[in-house]
Amino acid sequence: MQFFDTHIHLADFGTNKPEDIMAYLDEFGVKKCVCVSAHIKDWPIVADFARNFAFRVVPAFGLHPWYVKEAGDTFQNDLETYLEEFPSALIGECGFDKLKNQDIDAQKKVFDVELDLALRYRRPLLLHTVKSDGVMQEYDAFLPQNSVFHSFSGSLERAKQIKKFGFYIAVNRKFFNKKDAEDILKTIDKNKLLIETDAPYQSKAEDLPEVVKKIAQILNQDEKQTADMLYLNALEALVND
Ligand SMILES: [Zn+2]
Repeated sequence: MQFFDTHIHLADFGTNKPEDIMAYLDEFGVKKCVCVSAHIKDWPIVADFARNFAFRVVPAFGLHPWYVKEAGDTFQNDLETYLEEFPSALIGECGFDKLKNQDIDAQKKVFDVELDLALRYRRPLLLHTVKSDGVMQEYDAFLPQNSVFHSFSGSLERAKQIKKFGFYIAVNRKFFNKKDAEDILKTIDKNKLLIETDAPYQSKAEDLPEVVKKIAQILNQDEKQTADMLYLNALEALVND
């Protein structure tokens, strides 16, 4: 089976050489991935991955809600420079997190810049939303097409709202610990479902076959067919060529 990991932090694989990280992804069938940034200092590293492995790495530039303090005067300009250099680049990860950062105003200030650029450059947003559905809902009607709710941790109700707007929902191994995981998965439109690892954090490349197996069981369809569907969904959502 082949996989498209829609959320991986390649900049955080420690001292591993980029070639070795790619070999690791190969070993577990990850043919393509979206390399997200969390910090501003990740941007040049993500850019190098995209330049050196253009056929398989889709870059994403953004600022994680935990680190919004890093945004200085040149934030918008610097982000724009990367979007111009990489017409395939997405914006993220970005969004809101009330669990780890209570300063929602600071998060809004940064997110507003990212959203504005996403709309102007027509790029999807890769959204991190933890304990902040209320804030995020204010933005639902204004998000660019093909935006992704990464590592979905919300309620069934929230999944239904997202579905109404036609956005994508990405799940990793952790999602299946949710009590209502099955109901949520059945609610999401099949063509709006994505998989991810969030490696080296929430899960690993070697977990993807198990994630596909669980999705296949819940949706009552063949595993290979499910893997193909998820791969095509990611191409459709995140690769513009
Ligand atoms: Zn992440």
